[in-house]
Amino acid sequence: MEIPFAESWKIKMVEPITKSTREQREEWIKEVGYNVFGLRSDQVYIDCLTDSGTGAMSDRQWAAMMTGDESYAGARSFFELKDAIEKITGFKYVIPTHQGRAAENVLFSALVKEGDYVPGNSHFDTTKGHIEFRKAHAVDCTIDDAKDTQKELPFKGNVDPKKLEKVIQEHGDKVPFVIMTITNNTAGGEPVSMANLREVRRICDKYGKRVIFDSARFAENAYFIKTREDGYADKTIKEICREMFALADGMTMSAKKDGLVNMGGFIATRWEDWYEAAKAFVIPFEGYLTYGGMNGRDMAALAVGLIENTEFDNLHTRIHQLTLLASLLDEYGVPYQRPVGGHAIFIDALKVLPQIPKEEFPAQTLTIELYKEAGIRGCEIGFLLADRDPETRQNRFDGNDFVRLCIPRRVYTDNHIRVIAAALKNVYDRRDEIKRGMEIVWEAELMRHFTVRLKPAAE
Ligand SMILES: *Cc1c(COP(=O)(O)O)cnc(C)c1O
Repeated sequence: MEIPFAESWKIKMVEPITKSTREQREEWIKEVGYNVFGLRSDQVYIDCLTDSGTGAMSDRQWAAMMTGDESYAGARSFFELKDAIEKITGFKYVIPTHQGRAAENVLFSALVKEGDYVPGNSHFDTTKGHIEFRKAHAVDCTIDDAKDTQKELPFKGNVDPKKLEKVIQEHGDKVPFVIMTITNNTAGGEPVSMANLREVRRICDKYGKRVIFDSARFAENAYFIKTREDGYADKTIKEICREMFALADGMTMSAKKDGLVNMGGFIATRWEDWYEAAKAFVIPFEGYLTYGGMNGRDMAALAVGLIENTEFDNLHTRIHQLTLLASLLDEYGVPYQRPVGGHAIFIDALKVLPQIPKEEFPAQTLTIELYKEAGIRGCEIGFLLADRDPETRQNRFDGNDFVRLCIPRRVYTDNHIRVIAAALKNVYDRRDEIKRGMEIVWEAELMRHFTVRLKPAAE
C-alpha cells in the first residue's frame, strides 16, 4: 500500500481553540454588524482570515529567540539575519523594518516621485497605497487570463511582457523601477514562472530599469517553479531562490508570510546607491540601521525561519493542505480561483450565489454564512474591499467577488482542512435557500471593509 502523505513536523505545544453553537455565532456576528473583523478570536473556531503573522514558529526559532542580542547598534542577531538573507538571495545590503509595508515606505520614500509610473503584476494593497500616496501610478500588467477564475494555468501570476514594455516605452524616465510580486497575492496567491521573471529582466535591461521583488511569498513561488516549470524538478528550493533573486535588483519583504515569524520585514538589495538612499529614511521612520523596527530576538527567529522555509518538506506540507482543500471542493463542486495558489483558496461567490444582486455583496453574504455554519472566519476580497470610486462615489462592481480562506503556516492539521471543506459543502448545498444578501448600515470613506457595519437586506 502506498504510504500516505503526512506533515513534516510534529506538535510540541498546543493552543486550545473554542467551539460554539450556531445560535451563539448568529448572536455574535449580529452584534458586530456582520463584519468578521469585529469578532473576538475566541468566537472563531478555525481562523482563515489571513496567513500574515499567524504561523507557528518551530522549536529552533523559539530557541533562537533566547539568543537575541538587543544591542542598539551592531547586534549579533542583525548579522545572523543579514547572513541568512544573503545566503538565500545573494543581496548584501539589508535593512530590517517592522513589517512589509514599512519596507515599502522606506524604500519608496527614496525611489518614488510624484508623477512616476510603477508597473508590475497586481500590486498588493499597501504597495499600491505607498505608490499612490506619493502621487505616482501603480500600473497592473498582469496577464489577462488571471481574471478568468476557471482557467487552469500553471503561472497565473505572470506579467504580460507586452503590457510591461508599453508602460516603460510610454513613460520612460518616469518609471523608477518595475515591481514583481511573488507570489501574486491579489490574483489568488498565483505563482510567477522563472521564464517570466527572466523576460521581465530582459525588458528592464533593454531600457535600463531596475527590478524589485515584493517577496512576501518568495519561497512558495520557488516551490511552484520546482513542481511546475520544466527543468527545475531536480533543483533545491534554495537553488531556485538564488536563481530568482539573481534576476532582481532588490526586494521588499513581509516576514510575516514566508519568514515564518509573527512580525517583521526587511529591504535587501545588491546596490549600494539604493542602500544609501534608503538609510536616510529608515532612521527617522523605523529605527537604527541594524534593527530598524525589530527586536534582536525577532531578527534571530527570522534568520532561522528563512532557512527553514526554504526547505522543500516544509513548503510541501503547507501547499499540500491547499491542494487537499481544493481537491475536496472539486469533489463537492464548489467553484474557486483555479488552480489553487500557495496560501489561500478564493471562492468565487458570484458563481455560488448568482441570485444575490451585486448591490447586496454576495461574497460578504457567503463569508457570514460560512461563519454561522461552523465558526470559520474567512475574508471578503470583493465588492466591499473594492471601496467606492473616489470621484463618482459609486460602488465598484467590475472586479471579482471572492471569499478568501487563508491557511496559516504550521497551525492547523489536515483534519481542520476537512472541517473547512465540509462547512463549505453544507453552505453550497443549501445555496438556493439564501435569498437575500447584506446592506450597508455605516461605512468609512476608505478601506471600509475593516470597519463596515451591515445588516441583512430587507425582504
Ligand atoms: C502582506 C503583504 C505586504 C505588506 O506586508 P505587511 O507585513 O502586512 O505590512 C506587501 N506585499 C505583499 C504581497 C503582501 O502579501
